[in-house]
Amino acid sequence: MDVIPGAYEVPDPELDAHVAMRARQVEAGDPTPIDLRRTNGDVVRVQCTPLPDGGRMLTYTPVTDIVRFSDELRVLRDALENVQDGVLLLDSDLNASFMNRRMRRFWEVSEEEAAGRPAYASLVRRMHRASAPDLPPSELARFPARRVEEVKAGDHVRDLQTPDGRRIRAHCTTMSNGGRMLTYVDITDLTQKAKMLETLATTDPLTGLFNRRHFLESLDAEWSRFQRYYRSVSVLMLDIDHFKSVNDRYGHAVGDAAIKTVAAACLDGKRKSDIVGRLGGEEFAVLLPETSLSRARTVAERIRKRVMSSYVAAHKIQFGVTVSIGIAEASVSMSGIDALMAAADHALYQAKAEGRNRCIAWSPPPPASKAAE
Ligand code: GH3
Ligand code: MG
Ligand code: MG
Repeated sequence: MDVIPGAYEVPDPELDAHVAMRARQVEAGDPTPIDLRRTNGDVVRVQCTPLPDGGRMLTYTPVTDIVRFSDELRVLRDALENVQDGVLLLDSDLNASFMNRRMRRFWEVSEEEAAGRPAYASLVRRMHRASAPDLPPSELARFPARRVEEVKAGDHVRDLQTPDGRRIRAHCTTMSNGGRMLTYVDITDLTQKAKMLETLATTDPLTGLFNRRHFLESLDAEWSRFQRYYRSVSVLMLDIDHFKSVNDRYGHAVGDAAIKTVAAACLDGKRKSDIVGRLGGEEFAVLLPETSLSRARTVAERIRKRVMSSYVAAHKIQFGVTVSIGIAEASVSMSGIDALMAAADHALYQAKAEGRNRCIAWSPPPPASKAAE
């Protein structure tokens, strides 16, 4: 057998060995096909068929395109294997036809196991590697079956949570072969950053209370409930008494410590569903959902007493402060939350005027006709 030197992509030093190997194969009648790459880029598949008379038939089939596609496929597969995100391909029976390294590590599946095309259902059930975030234990057992149904149903995005608290965003895409592609992206850092940003945007840095903006947003939501379902809602407005003299006597830093002490007393005296905000300076507000004026009065009194009995301790100085509190309940005659806040502010002003360290509830002015009498 002869090979034209240079026609195949076989380096010169290996040419003799190559020729010998091919001669041996033909002699043995080995039907294993071999792909020969020509120097011009073409690929020819050579196959040897032993003939009954002891001869050999050699067939040469041009397979350039097939080999090129399969080379490209290999490159794509290698790329998918190594991407940072998890990639899982399911066939139309929802068996895993491909699982990249990240995915295998996630489910603790070996390469051999993955090659056995495990059913998606068996992977989901596997040690509950992921479930829906904040799922109560009673629902947890049902999760794998629901998740399989979800994937069966087609395209969707779903956030999952791993037992060690990581957040995974899973995208499910329907493929043209009836299968699914699932990609898994770890979004733990993103969610943590989003949470941090939200905290920054809604909290007052000195006291850790909600800031004015967030307080008013919460009040707005509560106001809608009041309008729709006539749920009563009340607000308290607090202001530290004679605070200027605290600053003047002890300095701004000690003043800040006093603000923190009052904030702590407000948190201490509030109920679980109440929302405390720092409106600015040494002014605070408490939102009391589902609370009538008389119950709001009780909460206000409790907070006032807590403030009175706590001490501001800073820079080796100890002293007490008091607060005045205005109380108002939402009423249908009010145009909105501005009117409610104004009512509480009005009551606060009255508490100041009547000597401070007291709680005063707002009451609507008497009707004009009566007032005129
Ligand atoms: P009143 O009993 O009538 O409320 O008297 P007051 O002295 O407390 O008067 P007012 O409420 O008007 O005082 C507000 C003062 O609070 C003015 C300002 O110097 C001080 N203040 C505002 N914001 C801060 C702050 O963030 N830190 C400190 N230390 N002081 C602040
Ligand atoms: Mg003030
Ligand atoms: Mg004040």
